[in-house]
Amino acid sequence: MKVKLLRYTPDPELLCGAAALTSSRSEGTSQIIEKLDLEKARRVVRRVTGYGHESVIEHACFTFSIEGVSRAMTHQLVRHRIASYTQQSQRYVTYDTLEHYVVPPSIAQNVEARKLFEHALSQISETYRKLMEHGIPKEDARFILPNAAKTNIVVTMNARELKHFFRLRCCQRSQWEIRAVAIEMLRQVKKIAPVFFENAGPSCVELGFCPEGAMKPKTCNIEEIRKRFKEL
Ligand SMILES: Cc1cc2nc3c(=O)[nH]c(=O)nc-3n(C[C@H](O)[C@H](O)[C@H](O)COP(=O)(O)OP(=O)(O)OC[C@H]3O[C@@H](n4cnc5c(N)ncnc54)[C@H](O)[C@@H]3O)c2cc1C
Repeated sequence: MKVKLLRYTPDPELLCGAAALTSSRSEGTSQIIEKLDLEKARRVVRRVTGYGHESVIEHACFTFSIEGVSRAMTHQLVRHRIASYTQQSQRYVTYDTLEHYVVPPSIAQNVEARKLFEHALSQISETYRKLMEHGIPKEDARFILPNAAKTNIVVTMNARELKHFFRLRCCQRSQWEIRAVAIEMLRQVKKIAPVFFENAGPSCVELGFCPEGAMKPKTCNIEEIRKRFKEL
């Protein structure tokens, strides 16, 4: 798995600070931004988002390349609607070796389970190849591919949606692969816009409580989780 922040809105905190000040100033944002320094912009963003007015951070967008993940992961990712996506197409890529599949750690670490898994994948790859030999196009041969099929996807989210995404997907309740991707995305954006993401993470970190109720994993230790996300 590889997660790389490709591009982002230049000077995201300065821009959103200027946007926030637009509501209370007589001059336009083009003038505000010329006079604004980063420290002041950060203070404004912190204050305004602290009121719950998070729309100001929608002006900053972040684009990530997420590579070598499973279709199981991307199917969950694309449920997040306030985002833009471009994904590798199974109409063009050929799935004919074991390299084209993600092996979950629980299976990789279990010798017998791994054998079963790889056996099934070999059969799938073989059938996929034979279907194409019979003239079946890739767009139809792919119907036998499993959730483990590897894929690449580009995603763009604004800072507000990212925080929402982190709340849900950095949580221990979230599936391991999308959680690993979300945590790595958060680690990278924190370096670019520390004020936007200073309290970001699962709900228990950002909001101070766990909304999962009875579904809360027994392994959750809020103090440890808070510490981990603070140090990310
Ligand atoms: C632990 C976990 C388990 C899950 N299990 C399942 C499952 O079993 N089955 C399943 O189907 N899904 C499941 N999901 C997916 C989940 O239901 C959401 O579809 C997904 O997390 C996207 O989140 P979202 O809808 O809040 O946000 P986004 O699509 O990211 O949207 C952000 C916010 O915008 C607003 N919004 C967006 N679109 C609309 C709209 N049309 N109308 C009104 N407001 C809107 C909402 O406030 C929303 O929270 C699971 C998610 C998690 C984290």
